[in-house]
Amino acid sequence: MRAGLIGSAFFISTVVLSQATTYDFPNPIDTNNKEISVQEKQTYERNGLFVDNQFDGARLNALKFENDSTITIQIDPENSPINPSPWYAFRLWTNAGAQKKVTITIDYYESVKHRYWPKISDDRRTWSKLTESMVSVAKDTLSVTFSFTVKPDTTWISAQPLETSEDVRSWSKEIASNKWGSFDVIGKSRMGRDLMHVKLGKGKKTVVLISRQHPPEVTGYYALKAFVSRLADNSKLSKSFLKKYTVHIYPLLNPDGVDMGHWRHNTGGVDLNRDWAYYRQPEIKQIANHIVRTVRESNSEVAAGLDFHSTFYDVYYTTSRSLETKYQSFTDDWLNYIETNIEGYEINDQPSGLRSPVSKGWFVTQFNIPGITFEIGDDTPPDFIEKKGKISAEGMMKVLLDSN
Ligand SMILES: [Zn+2]
Repeated sequence: MRAGLIGSAFFISTVVLSQATTYDFPNPIDTNNKEISVQEKQTYERNGLFVDNQFDGARLNALKFENDSTITIQIDPENSPINPSPWYAFRLWTNAGAQKKVTITIDYYESVKHRYWPKISDDRRTWSKLTESMVSVAKDTLSVTFSFTVKPDTTWISAQPLETSEDVRSWSKEIASNKWGSFDVIGKSRMGRDLMHVKLGKGKKTVVLISRQHPPEVTGYYALKAFVSRLADNSKLSKSFLKKYTVHIYPLLNPDGVDMGHWRHNTGGVDLNRDWAYYRQPEIKQIANHIVRTVRESNSEVAAGLDFHSTFYDVYYTTSRSLETKYQSFTDDWLNYIETNIEGYEINDQPSGLRSPVSKGWFVTQFNIPGITFEIGDDTPPDFIEKKGKISAEGMMKVLLDSN
């Protein structure tokens, strides 16, 4: 009897310790499921001109041929209210032998403003911005019109380059093929897509990197890719770092939203980056618990937590220095390193305390370390993202090795 009681008490405390703890943030947010509407997948055709949305990442809610070469497209969000990040993606082609110059107008839901400059690709891998002279944004900014030539081979048009769950999987596996790396699936999204995890390093201490809570934020994901490629480049710095630290990378927190062409939410109709208090959505619940369990089981501690996003401009949303945390000096040391090592670059640091249940605050409430949201601008040039991602990784490695 006595032994049984001790046994069950031990069991209970193990369960409690290996789950993320809830926290009452000053601005709580209801993250219970809300209804979403799913776009109808179809191919539209008129006189040998085809347009469709039947691929992962697509968004095209309705289409009208005004005539043989003029098209109006309607773009709606998964549900509302919603942050204004009006994502669109579709593809076009013509009958064999034909070529057609088309003019497309995109109208957005209610009075949401145009945000993403149209990108074009003929292989879904290499993207370029449509040239300025081909694009005109309406005076009221509520719609955008652009022209280009459609050929028999598929042309893709998208708000940002397509980086679907399969693309993220290929990249993750490539990183995991490093001798310091491994790849696994730690759970499933609401619709059954994989929640991917890449582990890099063999060190005692932990670094956590997360990305793509918000589907359109591809530039933030590119910063994560550059950041991780520097961690995995087998340089002297990277090897010494990975001996002392293990990096846990969760590259795609919202795979359903990404593949279903959502503006922001998961299929529970919820902004996942408001669910880091009560874990009502399966994606956050499983990933938060996986981080906590991994740290506990390896008797480790988290030294840094970065969450990669995109917004209108480059900014670091940091944790207020007035909150007393472990690794308190990390933020300033790291940002100083980045500023010093990118010529002519001035850090945009916007600190705040605990407010709503975002991942940045979760690192404070869960691990008592300063969380950081790493925001890249929607239009930040790819070569600068690459440079900044790499220098940021280098800075993190140096600062954390120095603090060891
Ligand atoms: Zn975001």
